[in-house]
Amino acid sequence: MNADFTSDPRGEIPGATMMRDAWDEEADVVVLGCGGAGAVAAITAYDAGAKVIVVEKGEFGGNTRLATMAFLCPTNNSLAREHIKALSFGRLGDDIIDVYVEWTSKNVEYIEQLGGEVETCFPGASFSPLPGSETMLRYRVSARAEGELGGESLWNLLSKNLQQRNIPVHRHTTANRIIRSADEVVGVVTQKEEKRFNIRARKAVVLATGGFEYNEELKREFLPAYPIFAYGNAGNTGDGIRLAQELGADLWHMNAVAAPMGYKFPEFQSAFIMRMPADGYIIVDQNGNRFCNETGLEHYSMWMSVTSFNTESLRFLRIPSYLIFDEQTRLAGPITRVGHGANRVYQWSPDNSQEVRRGWIKSGNSPVELANKLGIQATEKLTQTFQDYKEACKSGTDEKFGRSKETLVEFDSKSYGVPLWPCLLNTQGGPKRNARGEIVDVWGEPIKRLYGAGEVGSIWGFLYQSGGNLGECLGLGRLVGLNAAAELPLN
Ligand SMILES: Cc1cc2nc3c(=O)[nH]c(=O)nc-3n(C[C@H](O)[C@H](O)[C@H](O)COP(=O)(O)OP(=O)(O)OC[C@H]3O[C@@H](n4cnc5c(N)ncnc54)[C@H](O)[C@@H]3O)c2cc1C
Repeated sequence: MNADFTSDPRGEIPGATMMRDAWDEEADVVVLGCGGAGAVAAITAYDAGAKVIVVEKGEFGGNTRLATMAFLCPTNNSLAREHIKALSFGRLGDDIIDVYVEWTSKNVEYIEQLGGEVETCFPGASFSPLPGSETMLRYRVSARAEGELGGESLWNLLSKNLQQRNIPVHRHTTANRIIRSADEVVGVVTQKEEKRFNIRARKAVVLATGGFEYNEELKREFLPAYPIFAYGNAGNTGDGIRLAQELGADLWHMNAVAAPMGYKFPEFQSAFIMRMPADGYIIVDQNGNRFCNETGLEHYSMWMSVTSFNTESLRFLRIPSYLIFDEQTRLAGPITRVGHGANRVYQWSPDNSQEVRRGWIKSGNSPVELANKLGIQATEKLTQTFQDYKEACKSGTDEKFGRSKETLVEFDSKSYGVPLWPCLLNTQGGPKRNARGEIVDVWGEPIKRLYGAGEVGSIWGFLYQSGGNLGECLGLGRLVGLNAAAELPLN
């Protein structure tokens, strides 16, 4: 089969000579990335009659397999539109909001069609003061197998559906290039180990390669602070962004992320998420000062409280910050969500004692001793902060930060500390899409036969609603699968 690659702007496609003569494989729809969005797009395109091939750089499952597993399914479409509009702070057109709500509101029905069962997750809305929040309901796929971790029950359901349809998934195969002939996308260059495979897409290519949580260059360039670590799949290096940019794609939402605070230790590439088992804790900056209402921080936007740059000390004074807690809190349970994210096989000890022994968590019998061990220079300031916090607990009023009375728990004698970093659950930015899920160029024109789904250019442009990403994979993954399958085939 012949293809004309001469329209490539750089004129230097790897192996171009060979590709002019032959494609190695052919399908109607080629899906890049086998996480939630890719799997849903592939299943839907297949069910609409298309021959589908999925290309996956790693094993499979991406962030989807590691997720907590809540997905959004609003019940009242007009309230959901109002709410998402408020969350977006003007970064989303009404047409995108409409299509998101239309498709995600059928997510429960879709899971049932795939043979899954759902259960409700609590609480629903991440930002309940915004209008329409009461409809932001979240669900998860009920676990079938004992010991299913994280997002595995959702992933296992999608994986089973891929297998039932015999949709080929080329694992450990990286999409390196999207090929365009004249003004249409016609296929993909992929690589497995040293070998290249050129796959022709008769109808469309769907980009579903996830986020850029592990691409240091993109994070430095687009996120408001650095370093920012990550909890999920190390294969998410923003490849799809580069692939689409090469074809002239516009980008959107590049500085939007969901990033609760967490811990990063050299032994692990990924971070551990902060989750406190009791209220006896504070967070301080590198000067030993508290700077927020610790127990009132919204989970996904926590990172927003640490990204300000201090122009006197010329540092991000809150990166890292320090989590400080007392003995009772240490004994109350793990200070992380166990069985979560890429480090989920690590057995965190129930009383955090093993992590103290490992030297991840430092301990001190006084604020000065703790400050010295943590490397906080301002030892006196930390002592003062302990004192101020003690007084706030006694009076039941946190004048500076408004922490609620019931969470003002006084420290007992011994205290513990650990550096705290902003860490990504996901990045939201990537190639911009229109309401049909087509990737658009810098002039707003669709790049013909190129679609996008999931985290690579997600709709979430500012505040993030929990369950919104998996909701998007399930909802807009279907839209994209249908539209890709409906393209007229190339000759
Ligand atoms: C710990 C954790 C908990 C989370 N909890 C939730 C939650 O409860 N609810 C929610 O909505 N969201 C949650 N998220 C976010 C959510 O998991 C992701 O946004 C979502 O799974 C993204 O799906 P995706 O299909 O777009 O990408 P992924 O599932 O990440 O899949 C992308 C795939 O593309 C592959 N890939 C990358 N580059 C290439 C390439 N060049 N060629 C071929 N393949 C490539 C990757 O290997 C990966 O398998 C969580 C994330 C984490 C890390």
